[in-house]
Amino acid sequence: MDKREFLRTSGAALTGCMLSRMLHAQAQPAPRTNWAGNYTYSTGNLRQPSTIEEVQSIVRECSRLRALGSRHSFNGIADSTENQVSVAALRSIDLDSAASIVTVGAGIRYGDLAPVIDAKGFALHNLASLPHISVAGAIATATHGSGLHNGNLATAVSALEFVAASGDLLHLSRDKDSDRFHGAPVHLGALGILTRITLDVQPTYPVAQTVYLDLPFAQLERHLEEIFSSGYSVSLFTDWQNSRVTQVWIKRRTDRTYDAPLGPDFFGAYRATVKMHPILGHSAEACTEQLGIPGPWYERLPHFRMNFTPSSGQELQTEYFVPIEQGYQAIRAVETLRDQITPHLFVTELRTIDSDELWMSMAYRRRSLAIHFTWKPEWPAVRTILPQIEARLKPFGARPHWAKLFTVEPAHLDSLYPRLSDFKSLAAQYDPHAKFRNQFLSTNLYSA
Ligand SMILES: Cc1cc2nc3c(=O)[nH]c(=O)nc-3n(C[C@H](O)[C@H](O)[C@H](O)COP(=O)(O)OP(=O)(O)OC[C@H]3O[C@@H](n4cnc5c(N)ncnc54)[C@H](O)[C@@H]3O)c2cc1C
Repeated sequence: MDKREFLRTSGAALTGCMLSRMLHAQAQPAPRTNWAGNYTYSTGNLRQPSTIEEVQSIVRECSRLRALGSRHSFNGIADSTENQVSVAALRSIDLDSAASIVTVGAGIRYGDLAPVIDAKGFALHNLASLPHISVAGAIATATHGSGLHNGNLATAVSALEFVAASGDLLHLSRDKDSDRFHGAPVHLGALGILTRITLDVQPTYPVAQTVYLDLPFAQLERHLEEIFSSGYSVSLFTDWQNSRVTQVWIKRRTDRTYDAPLGPDFFGAYRATVKMHPILGHSAEACTEQLGIPGPWYERLPHFRMNFTPSSGQELQTEYFVPIEQGYQAIRAVETLRDQITPHLFVTELRTIDSDELWMSMAYRRRSLAIHFTWKPEWPAVRTILPQIEARLKPFGARPHWAKLFTVEPAHLDSLYPRLSDFKSLAAQYDPHAKFRNQFLSTNLYSA
């Protein structure tokens, strides 16, 4: 343990976890940063229970704690000044084929779950760009893939088991808890420590991925929805220069028919003849198979392969969700900042997400276009650009991604989520003394 870690550990010694921390601190050094390395967690105390009973006793012992998933968020949403708990050891998989559901340990990663259910003939409705993230952490922040008719990953949740602040093991389900359930899947870590999650599954399906290059922005004015309907999941990438989409990634289910076959030309773009990485100069080896070669859903829906570094590695991310009907205008509004944005950008991705009923989802009651930025790790510059992008997108009611970097004022955030006060009531019911509340939640949900 270095001096800094010792001071952090001893400085927090008045909290309820003192004894167990002394026993565990040296044996279990905490990951000090998030995956991207841009955020250093404020505690060295990482608890790693291997059973649900252990999760319960940790929750009872600690006066403050926060769950940590696979560390892929870019801000302090998973942080705690006192204790973090990882349920990575909880990764059971119980498939109920007859009911078309799978119940998983909350720490499991999509990349570990997918091949198991696929081997039994089942699939999830969608995946994010990377399979490396945990199910509990992904649904917490309304993580999404793309597809006009695909809700975010939390929309697949039909039931949750979690340890509330009292240490009790509780359940919520879509069938039994009606409206209240809609506050739970996108939980922001505020309700308790998730231990098991039930997800809808469907019969497995094959997907083929085809990439096109250089699509003029002008085509989006009249064909935005048509372009995003050309596949089961479609992503557009741009560097904002020259008024064009640099790459169009079309993921088609090969068990479905589409209006038109994919030919050499696509709305003025031309078909790529070699495998591409969305970021110029990065090896396409890290990417899932393209060139129209069919394969299992879980090896095509993410852009990046499980055992490779996704995206760039050292990077920052930001993303805003606007109603799809205003998508083209929103894109053009951001484009006005292109000369400020491009020097600090790896790439922008445009995706669609179906509307849902989940209170804290960025797509709550809004079919959305998501405008994403993968930035170079240049926070001082990015920090000055974000308010400008947010000002351009404010007229569209843009909601920022909970797991990424944003500077939107809490009072404005408040106005973007009509069910926020219901969510706070739900959190208060399971966590009356704010055991699970951290600085991120205090600032963004409770300070307006
Ligand atoms: C390279 C890269 C690509 C990405 N691509 C996408 C993408 O395609 N689409 C997208 O929407 N996002 C994307 N993201 C963002 C990512 O999906 C989110 O940050 C997601 O929340 C990460 O999940 P995690 O398991 O790493 O959770 P963490 O980041 O560790 O935690 C996220 C939240 O979940 C909570 N949490 C975790 N486990 C539990 C639990 N057991 N009980 C209660 N709360 C819990 C934490 O407290 C925290 O509030 C990407 C991120 C990276 C780094």
